[in-house]
Amino acid sequence: MRILIADDNAVSRRVLEASLQNWDYEVISVDDGQAAWDVFQSDDAPRLAILDWEMPELTGPEVCSMVRQRNRDTYTYILLLTSKNEKKDLIEGMNAGADDYIAKPFDQQELRVRLRAGQRIIDLQDDLLVAREALRQQATHDSLTGLKNRGTIVEMLHMEMARDQRMHDGLGLVILDLDLFKRINDTYGHAAGDTVLKECANRMASCVRDYDSIGRYGGEEFLIVLPGCDEHCTVAQAERMLSAIRTEPIMLESGPVFVTASLGATNLVSGVSGDKLIQIADDALYRAKHNGRNRVEFIDANIAASEAPIGSGRIAGRA
Ligand code: GH3
Ligand code: MG
Ligand code: MG
Ligand code: MG
Repeated sequence: MRILIADDNAVSRRVLEASLQNWDYEVISVDDGQAAWDVFQSDDAPRLAILDWEMPELTGPEVCSMVRQRNRDTYTYILLLTSKNEKKDLIEGMNAGADDYIAKPFDQQELRVRLRAGQRIIDLQDDLLVAREALRQQATHDSLTGLKNRGTIVEMLHMEMARDQRMHDGLGLVILDLDLFKRINDTYGHAAGDTVLKECANRMASCVRDYDSIGRYGGEEFLIVLPGCDEHCTVAQAERMLSAIRTEPIMLESGPVFVTASLGATNLVSGVSGDKLIQIADDALYRAKHNGRNRVEFIDANIAASEAPIGSGRIAGRA
């Protein structure tokens, strides 16, 4: 555990350094408040600190309140060290955001247990951050494939549509549906079906660009958002995904199985809503299924937006 000591008194600083090193802390030691603040601003700043109260440049409580005003996720545990010991001093230090307070000359064992308490708070806070991140991942991603879930991918589509209104660099949308997937479940079992879904998701993810987004839209159906993509680029990306899925067989326990997919693609045009765009891509998918599956079909949203949908209402009934 790294710890910052800030104390302008060289003797007191050395005593602290020696004790802390003895207790296996990695010590960073400075002799004024400004230097302490500089350390706190670095990316890998220590999470535990002992600040002297009176120091040149900035006092311990001043550094404390500056640390608290930052908006960082990770918590810094601060212990103020002081020769002051009146109650009003303690209140002032705590008000500035200190977690604890120890009077000089300090008792070694007391300091040690107080630092352990600080360490426990930091560990708890780290656990909370991990739990929060896991919850966020759970809420936004599909647990089987690890891809974005339906809500997230639709949100990404809306975000990218808003971005395109400023950038005007095109936006492609693709819906991919695995062909005759029910047969895979029926023939090899549901677990094998899951393996196929995961493998197809990996293959799709491996052939899109960093700034593209893929989500699981429904059972065996995926939505792919392609920022900065015109018609040519959207169709090319869709073909690439189809090729990634169908070229190599997927290895199941029972042996290799070849899988194909149908893809419907379209491009954003002005005045078309997100829902409408999804519906146009879905109409293109319907056309791909109708024309024999294992293919990409593109529908120009300019034309489609002015016509009645081919497979209207289809989306609502699926996924
Ligand atoms: P089509 O080519 O017309 O799309 O035929 P299909 O068989 O792929 O389409 P259909 O909608 O009839 O069947 C989709 C199947 O996907 C049915 C459902 O049980 C299966 N499925 C949906 N989600 C999952 C899943 O998470 N795991 C597995 N193993 N199967 C799933
Ligand atoms: Mg001092
Ligand atoms: Mg299907
Ligand atoms: Mg389907």
